[in-house]
Amino acid sequence: MSPVRQTTHFDKNLIDKDAIKVVNTLAKAGFEVYLVGGCIRDLLLGYKPKDFDIATSATPEQVTKIFKRSRIIGRRFRLVHIMFSARKYIEVATFRAGKVQTSGNGVIIRDNYYGTLYEDAFRRDFSVNGLYYDITKSEVIDYVGGLEDLKSSVIKMIGNPTERFEEDPVRMIRAIRFKVKLNASLSPEISKSISKQAHLLANIPPARLYEEIIKLFHNEKSIEVYKGLLKFGLLKFLFSQAHESSFIDATLINTSKRIQSGNSVTPVFLFAVFLWAAQNKRYNELNKKNKSHIDLMIKASEEIIKRQTQQVMMPRWLSSRVKDIWMMQYQLENCNLNKAKELINNPRFRMAYDFLVLRSQSVDPDLKERAEFWTTLQK
Ligand code: ATP
Ligand code: MG
Repeated sequence: MSPVRQTTHFDKNLIDKDAIKVVNTLAKAGFEVYLVGGCIRDLLLGYKPKDFDIATSATPEQVTKIFKRSRIIGRRFRLVHIMFSARKYIEVATFRAGKVQTSGNGVIIRDNYYGTLYEDAFRRDFSVNGLYYDITKSEVIDYVGGLEDLKSSVIKMIGNPTERFEEDPVRMIRAIRFKVKLNASLSPEISKSISKQAHLLANIPPARLYEEIIKLFHNEKSIEVYKGLLKFGLLKFLFSQAHESSFIDATLINTSKRIQSGNSVTPVFLFAVFLWAAQNKRYNELNKKNKSHIDLMIKASEEIIKRQTQQVMMPRWLSSRVKDIWMMQYQLENCNLNKAKELINNPRFRMAYDFLVLRSQSVDPDLKERAEFWTTLQK
């Protein structure tokens, strides 16, 4: 099958310089090499890509031989990271082939067969993510109808959605994320399959879902992603203990605004907010006899966090900060002026304060005055 080849006119200055270096080096060594996936999709739509992925005919071993500062990562997919600084790397993947081997419930067991560009294209998830770019020819290569689907703003699965979701259920949350990000529609087949297969998400390892959660909610349209996850019955497989609330809405809107204006965001806040109502409920259920408020708060917090980590991993540093935010709410609500002046200097104060403000603007309007007290005190 021959692909559509299209000479393109997007702004080449938007392509990362290090990614260009990697492509040129591999091409000079005689390998086939392309930019691929999300970066091409975003360039064609006029967005600035978050990262640049590279697909090549070189095996991981061949890539690491050529680039000194590189290492092979991953067991399921073996990829190479080429380091450009302590925090920056370019990811290089060898063309893949064939079907992934899964256990009956969608967990991938083996996936390390190498293939051709053509085979690799059909292993990608959605057509809009299946585009390759040949830098030397300035040409987009499209085997999967991605160019057309980009134009008509529709997310279509490469292949049969039911099978591809079974193969990797994380694609369901990716579908929602790209629908929102690209302001696109989902193909009817995808919509139908997600509604039927949402439960398969329960089989995904918690560590993988942690990475996904951050991508889902740390963006400029997180509230829409959240509503989409709810609509398709996917949210309960990420946060089974969370229920719809104006606090969650307010937080996601706030997170998106922070990202738009270049402020920092942290997953600590997301987890603290999603689980707050459950924590409160658990606290109220606990037997209060002979127990201090703090002991009960700790007990309720630990139980809720433990339950959450059965679905989505929470690294230890993260769960400990979530607890800090929760524990500080009581102090922020009740302490006297002297103690307040001390609390302001606590390194965890800022996050706990932001949390209180958002509560006061949503589920706890009674706290408005108290929130204002803290705002004034910091001036
Ligand atoms: P973004 O970077 O905006 O999150 P992206 O499309 O670049 O979007 P990545 O997770 O960076 O997403 O993946 C890069 C590419 O790898 C995708 O465009 C797609 O071609 C392929 N890919 C990623 N995850 C999967 C998956 N679960 N199944 C099939 N292909 C995938
Ligand atoms: Mg990407």
